[in-house]
Amino acid sequence: MNLILLGAPGAGKGTQAVRLAQKYSIPHISTGSIFRSKIKSQTPIGIVAKSYIDKGQLVPDEVAIQIVEERLEKEDCKNGFLLDGFPRTVRQAEALDEFSHVDAVVNIAVPLNKLLKRITGRRTCSKCGESYHIDYLNGKTTCAKCGADLIQREDDNEQTVTSRLDVYQKQTAPLIDYYTKKGVIINIDGDGDIEKVFSSICEKLG
Ligand code: ADP
Ligand code: AMP
Repeated sequence: MNLILLGAPGAGKGTQAVRLAQKYSIPHISTGSIFRSKIKSQTPIGIVAKSYIDKGQLVPDEVAIQIVEERLEKEDCKNGFLLDGFPRTVRQAEALDEFSHVDAVVNIAVPLNKLLKRITGRRTCSKCGESYHIDYLNGKTTCAKCGADLIQREDDNEQTVTSRLDVYQKQTAPLIDYYTKKGVIINIDGDGDIEKVFSSICEKLG
C-alpha cells in the first residue's frame, strides 16, 4: 500500500506514521527527518536545506522531489511506503504521480489554534524520531521506546512555526483538493486522543 499522510505541522503525522508503518509493515519516509539527518552530517543538501528550514520555508521542490524519487527506488519500498511530509506542494504531487502511484492520502485535520501549542511543546527522540509532548512527559527527558535523549527541534519555536503554518495554508492545503479530485483522500479528525485517531485511520484504511 502506497500511503501519504497530509496535515499541517503538528497535526500528528509523525505520531501516526510510526504506528501505521508498524501495522502495515511499510517504511516510514519523513522528508523532514531526511533533511535533519543531512543537516547533522553537513552534506551539501543539508546546508542548503537548513537555510530554508530555519526560516520556516519549504526546501525547493527539485531538492525534495529528487530525495523522494531516490528513496522510493530502494528495495524496502517494493511492497509500499508511507510518506510523511511529502508532497507539500502541487508540483511535488505531480512529480510523485510521474514516478509512482498513490493508493490513499490520509488527511489529518486539527484546528489551527491547537497546532501552535502542540508544536512548541513537542519533544522528539534524537534516535528513533518518536514525538512526545511536554504536557505528558512528567519531566522525563529520554525516549520511552529506545531510551535516547529527547530534543526540541530548532524549528519548533514560535516565530518559525507561524511561518510554517502560513506556508502550509498557502502551499500544502491545496493538495486536499488535488487528492479529493483523484478520489483517494481519507479525512480524519485529528483533534482527539492519539490512539483514537489511530483507530479511526485503521478503520477507514481497512
Ligand atoms: P507532525 O508530524 O504532523 O508535525 P507530530 O506527530 O510530531 O506532528 O505531533 C506534534 C505534537 O503533537 C507532538 O508533541 C505530539 O506528541 C503531539 N500530538 C500528536 N498527536 C496528538 C493528539 N492526537 N493529541 C494531542 N497531541 C498530539
Ligand atoms: P517536518 O519534519 O515535516 O515538520 O519538516 C520540517 C521542515 O523540513 C519543513 O518546515 C520544511 O522546511 C522542510 N521540508 C520537509 N519536507 C519537505 C518537502 N516535501 N518539501 C519542502 N520542504 C520540506
